[in-house]
Amino acid sequence: MKKLLLLTAACFIASATIAQQATRPIFYSISFPNAVHHEAEIAILIPQAPDGNFKVRMSRSSAGRYATHEFGKNVYNVTATDGKGKALPIKQLEGDVYEVGSHPETVKISYTLFANWTDGTYASIDPSHAHLNMPATIMWIPGLEKRAIQIEFNDMEKYGWQVASQLKHDEGRIYSAPDLQYLMDSPTELSAYKINSWEVVNTDGKKEKINLTVHSDDSQAVIDNFGTMLQKMVLEEKAVFGELPAYDYSEYTFLDDVHPTVSGDGMEHRNSTCIVQPAEKIEGNEVWLLGTFSHEYFHSWNVKRIRPKSLEPFNFEHANMSSELWFAEGFTQYYGEMVLVRSGFQKLDQYSGTIAGLVNAVLNKPASKVYSAPQMSRYSVFADAGVSIDPNNNNNVFTSYYFYGGAIALALDLRLRADFNLTLDDYMRTVWLNRGKVMKPYTIPDLQADLAQVTKNPKFAADFFSKYIYGLDKNDYEGLLAKAGLLLRKVDAGKAWAGPLSIAQNRGRSGAARTAGAVGLPIAASTVKGTPIYDAGLDAGDIILKADGKDITDGKSFLDVVATKKVGDKLSVTYKNRTGEHETIVTLTENPNFEVVAYEKAGKELTKDQETFRNNWLSSKVK
Ligand SMILES: [Zn+2]
Repeated sequence: MKKLLLLTAACFIASATIAQQATRPIFYSISFPNAVHHEAEIAILIPQAPDGNFKVRMSRSSAGRYATHEFGKNVYNVTATDGKGKALPIKQLEGDVYEVGSHPETVKISYTLFANWTDGTYASIDPSHAHLNMPATIMWIPGLEKRAIQIEFNDMEKYGWQVASQLKHDEGRIYSAPDLQYLMDSPTELSAYKINSWEVVNTDGKKEKINLTVHSDDSQAVIDNFGTMLQKMVLEEKAVFGELPAYDYSEYTFLDDVHPTVSGDGMEHRNSTCIVQPAEKIEGNEVWLLGTFSHEYFHSWNVKRIRPKSLEPFNFEHANMSSELWFAEGFTQYYGEMVLVRSGFQKLDQYSGTIAGLVNAVLNKPASKVYSAPQMSRYSVFADAGVSIDPNNNNNVFTSYYFYGGAIALALDLRLRADFNLTLDDYMRTVWLNRGKVMKPYTIPDLQADLAQVTKNPKFAADFFSKYIYGLDKNDYEGLLAKAGLLLRKVDAGKAWAGPLSIAQNRGRSGAARTAGAVGLPIAASTVKGTPIYDAGLDAGDIILKADGKDITDGKSFLDVVATKKVGDKLSVTYKNRTGEHETIVTLTENPNFEVVAYEKAGKELTKDQETFRNNWLSSKVK
């Protein structure tokens, strides 16, 4: 018995040693000896490297960005050595995939990264900062995704930088992530940023710390004031769900980077968001900039925790396709805008324009007439900052799931208020408790079940999903908005219109500005189905020369001719393309787009009921 016991104990010790060995972290070391030329030197120390040949690669997609990107193009000088610096065989199998040959237990991979694009997807390095989105920065080893990771940031004193990240701070310059998925979701800004932090007492009594780190030319006073505005927005969103998520390490960080040279972007992550804003400063732009913060922060519930099954786990070699982005992004779009009204940063006049944008997307975009919201969500793998040289036909085959879904959220909110004495907040809370809080990824039928639960009316939920989610029916926006005393009316009622002129810019096909004195108005992108110019056979590549006998030199001269006409008038248009000069007849119509105007501004009486309905909808919910 004793012997057996000893043997068992020995087995236990042996397996414990193996288990301990298996958890030794992969160690990344990132240095910036050549920041002025936008380069980083990155080394990966891999203890207990896989037996036999193994691969190391760059990603092709990024957490929260739905289209693919070729991050491998900016990685070079890839080498492999053993722990003592002796070269090991390594060969390039694909553009972004390398294979390490015969090797000892410990392998070190080194490479140079070039990074010069500041947004939520890519990385940028210069002496002012290292703005690192991890999929654009780190190579990784397929098969070792579950391994814990440590990451060391060097040269911090040289540039006067500090680390802003949701990564766990181990010690000194070393941070860690429990696995690859977590590291990839943890953008990191190294810079001399300014910080404003505060605590929110959550509904369960626990404290959550919120940080605003800003890399900009603003003073600390401006950052502190902006932090105070953010606090208000955070509490307004907390009121929607009834509580804040329990953030990992009880901390959430807004990583903001503001400079005229950066690209505009916002990217949500589990306990942080990377926000990049092309402004001189925050100062003077506070309200404009806040819209990205409210959208991204809402994602810390809706998408990072209320998670579509289709996005789990994140595939870094290809794009995850999701049918649920009308909810994950669209409902977030609706709340991101509306919460600004509730927290007092936006007036109804401005918000009316936002509502009109949502309604026009669902009622007037040609794609919304033939494709459902889930189908438009699946197009995100091409639409979400997707890059290509050849043009697409998005004017006719795509409606953004942000606006499509936002319009559905608007209609559902108003219907729940009008018909059930409920609100969309009640629905979001139910989805949060059933899915997000317990981290149970959802499908569209789950969302329908939650609507049935909150309304106690499975028939309504089934009807709503079959008509407006799976189907192509449109909600009665005019009737629903009227309940809040908002008038939906044509934007240019009674005036002649040829089609959206934004597509007929004074630029050549390549996008390059035309030479001065060039003749005609070139159409740069696909014309829109159902508009007069589309029906007259005009499209990208055509150059409009004359309208109604008058010379056309730019967009304005064309609009001036249209303005002299009436709805139904026929306009003769001369144009040229590769097959020669042609003539066509454009039958002018009325612009189908809507605007939204408050009853009292439109000279209509606002009833007490309408005023109450509007206030219940748009007033602060913070108690
Ligand atoms: Zn979003």
